[in-house]
Amino acid sequence: MSNANEVAFQKAKKVIPGGVNSPVRAFGSVGGTPRTIDRGAGSKIYDVTGKEFIDYVGSWGPLILGHAHPDIVRVVQQTAERGLSFGAPTEKEIELAEMITRLVPSMEQIRLVSSGTEATMSAIRLARGFTGKPKIIKFEGCYHGHSDSLLVKAGSGALTFGQPSSAGVPSELTSHTIVLDYNNVEMLNRAFSEAGDEIAGVIIEPIAGNMNLVKASPDFVSALRNLCDRYGALLIYDEVMTGFRVGISGAQGIQGVTPDITTLGKVIGGGMPMGAFGARREIMDRLAPIGPVYQAGTLSGNPVSVAAGIRTLQLIQEPEFFDDLTKVTRRLVDGMTEMAKKHSVDFCADSVGGMFGMYFSRSIPESFSDVMASDRERFNKFFHLMLDRGVYLAPSAFEAGFVSSAHSEADIAATLDAADETFAKL
Ligand SMILES: *Cc1c(COP(=O)(O)O)cnc(C)c1O
Repeated sequence: MSNANEVAFQKAKKVIPGGVNSPVRAFGSVGGTPRTIDRGAGSKIYDVTGKEFIDYVGSWGPLILGHAHPDIVRVVQQTAERGLSFGAPTEKEIELAEMITRLVPSMEQIRLVSSGTEATMSAIRLARGFTGKPKIIKFEGCYHGHSDSLLVKAGSGALTFGQPSSAGVPSELTSHTIVLDYNNVEMLNRAFSEAGDEIAGVIIEPIAGNMNLVKASPDFVSALRNLCDRYGALLIYDEVMTGFRVGISGAQGIQGVTPDITTLGKVIGGGMPMGAFGARREIMDRLAPIGPVYQAGTLSGNPVSVAAGIRTLQLIQEPEFFDDLTKVTRRLVDGMTEMAKKHSVDFCADSVGGMFGMYFSRSIPESFSDVMASDRERFNKFFHLMLDRGVYLAPSAFEAGFVSSAHSEADIAATLDAADETFAKL
């Protein structure tokens, strides 16, 4: 099978470690050769052989409007013509900050960065700087980017390669990170009663998308808020994936929770590199240049990314946007569940807004160990059979999937037809 994908991947492996610039792209857990992508349009991507796929990865979340949305492409081109970066303030940054702080009221101020990793890394430093405490709680299976102190039992890319932690991270750097089970209220209570005075913050994916899709239970969410309040720790909602993806005010809007710090990324850059973190003013005042917590970035608030972000946020605020996206995503998830049932395959699926999970298990997982108990061999077979039929799902059983506003009824119907054939073969 020496097609153009094979040729490209062999060439890539000579000059790029593993042939990829981010690990999960390598098909490491599902096997086979990654498709090298030539272009995208709307709900579709095309590989270098010209094969078309209905894309449910959407660049791992950012592309809520689909590929190469004409408005986004136009605004990127127009902005680029006026200069790519200045390293000085621009008016558009204010517009984006005003828009985000209005849509997500827990963020009174935000600072822009260039990736989700930078956002969470900075949020952790800010929580420690604000509270003067050293320890951070995170949950197994949640991924918060690849900064050292957060690379502990980190989900997806890390899970897929069987390296829950990473080489190159001295244990001193993770010794202040406490890892607990997701949705386990009792364990959380115990951690606070043992180390509460030392805990600067708790970071969580409020709807986890890096161990497939797992929702935080209402009990767990209220325990988090109460314990953080009681012990003076900051609750950090990592909404890099869920922000402007599950709803216009993120997971916090759906759950009715006011976190202390929120991190954003993915959708807010409209497909361009961007992240952000924000909090109430009292917390953000601790940041340089007015406060003692240092944080900076040469390309932070990049004008082209900001322009793409503003246009994206404008479009997703249109009436019915999230209702429609939610409905289409639900149709996919319900249809998949029906197809599996028709062929007597143990399978279930769930969705929130434009984000979904598909699990080869009898019930919807509530924790990392539930996710680990799903049938990964079966997922891998399913993944390849769907790919052959032109449906591009995330190449890992530990990843959420994404539907964009460009996905049509016809796309969903074609996906379900592919699933009908696929489940029959499992
Ligand atoms: C993707 C992701 C990150 C990291 O963002 P990058 O832009 O890849 O650095 C952090 N947290 C969550 C929840 C994510 O999904």
